Amino acid sequence: MSRPVLKLKRVQDINITEGSTVLVRVDYNVPMKDGKVSDDTRIRETEKTVKYLVSKKAKVVLIAHLGRPKGKVDPKYTLKKPVTEYVEKIMGTKTYFAEDCIGKAREEALKNLKNGEILLCENLRYHPEEEKNDENFAKELARGCDFFVQDAFGAIHRAHSSTSAVTKHLPSSIGFLLQKELEYLEKIMSASQRPFVAIIGGAKVSDKITVLESLLDRVDVLIIGGAMAYTFLKAQDVNIGKSLVEEDKIEDAKKIILKAFKNNVELLLPADHLVVKEVKEDAKTELTQSMAIPDEWIGVDIGSRTISIFSEKIMSAKTIFWNGPMGIFEMPAFSNGTVELAKAVAKATKNGAVSVLGGGDTLNALKKSGVKPEEVSHCSTGGGASLEFVVGKILPGLEALAV
Ligand code: AMP
Repeated sequence: MSRPVLKLKRVQDINITEGSTVLVRVDYNVPMKDGKVSDDTRIRETEKTVKYLVSKKAKVVLIAHLGRPKGKVDPKYTLKKPVTEYVEKIMGTKTYFAEDCIGKAREEALKNLKNGEILLCENLRYHPEEEKNDENFAKELARGCDFFVQDAFGAIHRAHSSTSAVTKHLPSSIGFLLQKELEYLEKIMSASQRPFVAIIGGAKVSDKITVLESLLDRVDVLIIGGAMAYTFLKAQDVNIGKSLVEEDKIEDAKKIILKAFKNNVELLLPADHLVVKEVKEDAKTELTQSMAIPDEWIGVDIGSRTISIFSEKIMSAKTIFWNGPMGIFEMPAFSNGTVELAKAVAKATKNGAVSVLGGGDTLNALKKSGVKPEEVSHCSTGGGASLEFVVGKILPGLEALAV
């Protein structure tokens, strides 16, 4: 699928002056653990845009979502603490919090905001209208603002009020993070350097089936790992024991296997697995002898032979796209496959490959592997958005910004 080229305005091309009120959609859907931000990458990635606006002495109004509160106020998903503190620390600028992203609470907070200060608004998804791309809600978001800047790459594959309808109410542009994301993903799309190897892992085949399907029109090699692989193995009547499987996706998996064959794409599935009888950190592990998993056993990571096969393919690649871990990498005992592939991607990059990694889990895995973000070409902040971009879909949030 080829996508039309969209003409987009950049934040540095619009006339933001002292006292301008700028509404900025950011992606602060950060992982939280025990009430703390466990990875602040998404906040740090917006630094350039926010600091630019602060340097222009604009009033910066940040809007974002966190988790899935399903249109209701749920303190579990508040952006108040500790996100506000993180923003203040990272931006080095006084940051206030508005108890609501629209209405009186925001209006009052905005009244008190001085030029060059930041106001972070409460979770957009406390309002059911946000995800319905509601016009009136978008109007309320825009109220009192002069410009809109989109910098939430992780959210632009959805047509929501804060990504789509809001652009009708304010002169709109894209922030520095979005500019960087698009630059690298375009590089992947053009894939002028071959071979192009895509690595897709994680748990949900259902989420990635169309992506796999489309990737087969672009790549030379498709590596499938993680729990997704078991559905593909089962589709070929390989025993997978008690491993995670999506029974209702087996037919889709068969179609993908067939398409890979027709398109002459090398489809690589795990040749061996690390297995346990119970998924727990100190479980006794075994390595399977083949791609089959004996009854009663559960696959939790790719095996050592698979690591060698996958790594070798990755190191021969010139363009690499990776989304999703190879195993339950959150548990150190089952993270080896993902960690080793991250090292292979770093080596390939050092040898001149363009590598783009997407998805929160993939980035967390990169961290665990000791590979630094600068050792790969680009770490995308949007897992879903980068997948949809790479398969050639028009992202609604980008389309809404087109001039
Ligand atoms: P996704 O959101 O689809 O990218 O899936 C990421 C999740 O897949 C991570 O939380 C991993 O723990 C999980 N995962 C990867 N491999 C396996 C596996 N073999 N069994 C169960 N879960 C897995």
